Amino acid sequence: MNEIIIYRILLISIFIFAAIVFTALFRICAPYGRHLRKGWGYYFPARWGWLLMEFPAFMVMLIFFFIGISKTTAVTVIFILLWAAHYFHRTFIYSFIMKGGGKKFPLILVAFAFIFNSINGYLNGRYLFHFAPAGKYNASWLHDPRFITGVIIFIAGMSINIYSDHILRGLRKNGQAGYLIPQGGLFKYVSCPNYFGEILEWTGWAIATWSLPGLAFAVFTSANLMPRAFSNHRWYLEYFPDYPGDRKALIPFLI
Ligand code: NDP
Repeated sequence: MNEIIIYRILLISIFIFAAIVFTALFRICAPYGRHLRKGWGYYFPARWGWLLMEFPAFMVMLIFFFIGISKTTAVTVIFILLWAAHYFHRTFIYSFIMKGGGKKFPLILVAFAFIFNSINGYLNGRYLFHFAPAGKYNASWLHDPRFITGVIIFIAGMSINIYSDHILRGLRKNGQAGYLIPQGGLFKYVSCPNYFGEILEWTGWAIATWSLPGLAFAVFTSANLMPRAFSNHRWYLEYFPDYPGDRKALIPFLI
């Protein structure tokens, strides 16, 4: 089987997998963080789980960048910088500064995410540095409204994501382990602004790259995080009787 067939099968699989994950997560909440529970096999310390599962996305993209270095343009350098900024932060910073990194995290989720991130890194990296039509990402793409809009949305999303996670990290003082009501930033409007930021990021990526692998990742991220945002929101409402009633789950003023 030649590579393009494997690439297409993997690409279609991501869309199908996104539909399955979206449906399943409305019934079964992924068992980590506040939804951690027994009966999911072996567990891993959360910090090492995050490091291990996010690492392939960072590494695989870099490998395809170096393999396709002869095709590098200013545009693809910007793409690799955006991708690397996100995954360097998530892999090597977030997992080390997170509070409660010793908490359990199911090995099965680490394995799923490891495989997904490897495939996703391959699809996006191989498209940018090999399968994209010749000349698509030459200097004229820098002025294309899709590129400019996408990059702005990506950076806005990443800023919202990192700032929201920073607020969450600040809630637990002096080794506290429980949960508190987050305040400030976009928490004024939604329960999960970090997920909102993450979805914005990959939507921006899909627009800026104007590619099917980019779209597949944006769709998957929404399919994964939307149901979890609803579960987290319901959990907050049940756990805190004084939880602000006007907060939405994920998108300010909408849902
Ligand atoms: P959460 O918001 O559930 O948790 C983030 C961190 O904050 C955890 O350490 C959590 O602790 C802590 N925390 C959350 N709420 C509170 C609270 N009310 N009081 C005190 N501490 C709190 O996010 P996730 O763990 O699900 O995700 C982490 C990051 O990874 C996010 O930025 C998310 O966007 C990203 N992500 C991306 C995915 C994708 O598909 N691209 C998939 C999943 C996550 P504890 O662990 O103890 O609950």
